[in-house]
Amino acid sequence: KRRDKNRWVLFEESMNQQYSARQRLKVDLREAIRTQSMTLAYQPMFNPQGTRIAGAEALSRWLHPELGPISPADYIPLAEEMGIISDLTRCVVDQAARDCASWPSNLFVSINLSAHDLGDREIIAVIADALDRNNLAAERLQLEVTESGLMGELETARSILSELRAMGMSIAIDDFGTGYSSLSYLDKLPLNKVKIDRSFISELTDDPSKLKLLRGVVHLSRELGLEIVVEGVETQEQLKVIRDNNCADLIQGYIFGMPMPMGAFVELATTLSRGEKSSVARPAAMKSH
Ligand code: C2E
Ligand code: MG
Ligand code: MG
Ligand code: MG
Repeated sequence: KRRDKNRWVLFEESMNQQYSARQRLKVDLREAIRTQSMTLAYQPMFNPQGTRIAGAEALSRWLHPELGPISPADYIPLAEEMGIISDLTRCVVDQAARDCASWPSNLFVSINLSAHDLGDREIIAVIADALDRNNLAAERLQLEVTESGLMGELETARSILSELRAMGMSIAIDDFGTGYSSLSYLDKLPLNKVKIDRSFISELTDDPSKLKLLRGVVHLSRELGLEIVVEGVETQEQLKVIRDNNCADLIQGYIFGMPMPMGAFVELATTLSRGEKSSVARPAAMKSH
């Protein structure tokens, strides 16, 4: 009895600790977003040869003063839950537009929108305003949306995306192949690109059926006039399979480049565009936490 009681007390204490750690994180997150403390890392998207960079995905980074780097995979869902994701999106849009405006004009920037962003038409004005203020052509901005981001009101999301696309932006479906009923989105949304999820690629060289699936998705996407971005390519073996099967228009993965600070990204893109091939093999070693 007594021992059980002690255990219960311990359990309760650890629950309390977890609870307050989470509460604290929420408080800090709200403050970090309010003070615009997040930064952006840029991960290049390459041609399949790895010789040229087409653009970069902007990835949010939060360096917590005491806890160190916190993954966006943790704080983005938290910000969504707290109803403050649109404030973060606003910062990302603004920063990415400002940054991209300073790059060579053949490079695009791609940003992630979350479910909440696609449920509110205000995002259209937020983006238009950021383009305007930074004098950036809409054609240089790409928007990534996930299937889970579309689960809510598909019709609202569709109409918002159509409008943004009509302004000149390109729309990519992100993490493709991880959700269900994926295929139906391909012709329901005004898409330009499909980003095939890393989970497809990680098992590509072990599981022969994964290659069949990949080839099928690629074929279908191309039939629909969509470009293919393959995400999460890490090894030479994976790269070879993807190239041999002509499965990618663009490759985004550690094999060619990790997310990096803007300066490093621009330098890499510029070097490659000059045809200096020295750094092609593995410009990867830079990672902004
Ligand atoms: P995502 O949009 O699918 O971004 C790609 C993620 O895969 C990034 O993780 C990137 O670092 C990682 N990645 C890229 N290549 C490789 C590879 O070869 N191997 C492995 N193992 N990983 C690779 P990150 O930066 O941690 O971002 C995680 C997710 O957080 C993103 O997934 C996106 O859903 C979300 N996120 C990041 N920034 C933002 C943002 O500004 N707004 C919103 N709404 N979501 C964001
Ligand atoms: Mg993305
Ligand atoms: Mg992705
Ligand atoms: Mg993802």
